[in-house]
Amino acid sequence: MSMVVSLEKNGRSFLKDQAFAFDFDGVVADTMSLFASIGREEFGLTDLYPEKITDYDLTRCLDVELDTLIQIITRVVSADYNHRLAPLPGAKDILQKLADKSGPLLFVTARPDGESVKHWLKDTLHMGEDICEVIATGSFDAKAEILQNRGKKLFVEDRLETCFHLKEAGIEPVLFIQPWNRRPHGFHEVRGWSDLAEFFGV
Ligand SMILES: [Mg+2]
Repeated sequence: MSMVVSLEKNGRSFLKDQAFAFDFDGVVADTMSLFASIGREEFGLTDLYPEKITDYDLTRCLDVELDTLIQIITRVVSADYNHRLAPLPGAKDILQKLADKSGPLLFVTARPDGESVKHWLKDTLHMGEDICEVIATGSFDAKAEILQNRGKKLFVEDRLETCFHLKEAGIEPVLFIQPWNRRPHGFHEVRGWSDLAEFFGV
């Protein structure tokens, strides 16, 4: 049975082999909601809501000065805002179930620094370094090599461009549906964590 055929059915084999890993922003954490609320509350962008973010490149979908976007993003990724960053519904319980079944989980983020993510996972999901590891690559395209080196064959990601890049590198992407990735693709996609639980069979 080929990898693609088994992927269409479920992710159990990837779970058994510990061959999966997760993106963080937009998959585990509801990062765009924090982005939008900082924009509304601190920058007066009163009509900024996650549904308006229809492209991962924010300059393409929002009529907001680049300098302002950068200031908001700087706040979003700062540990000072960690307490306002919510998990996406179901992420906490299902990640715990996956960790119970497979052992420590790997998160690979394109953030340049993984410290705030590590603290958030510990404080918000109660996942310490004994059950999870965070690797910050600083670039989207660096994810594939990290995953290959760690023997990961499947990655849950919300940035469609990264999914195409991973697929080329032989990593099977699972696209986590978000308003900013609604363009044609041929990847397996999930609508939230209950779909992911079903996919992994937990
Ligand atoms: Mg992401």
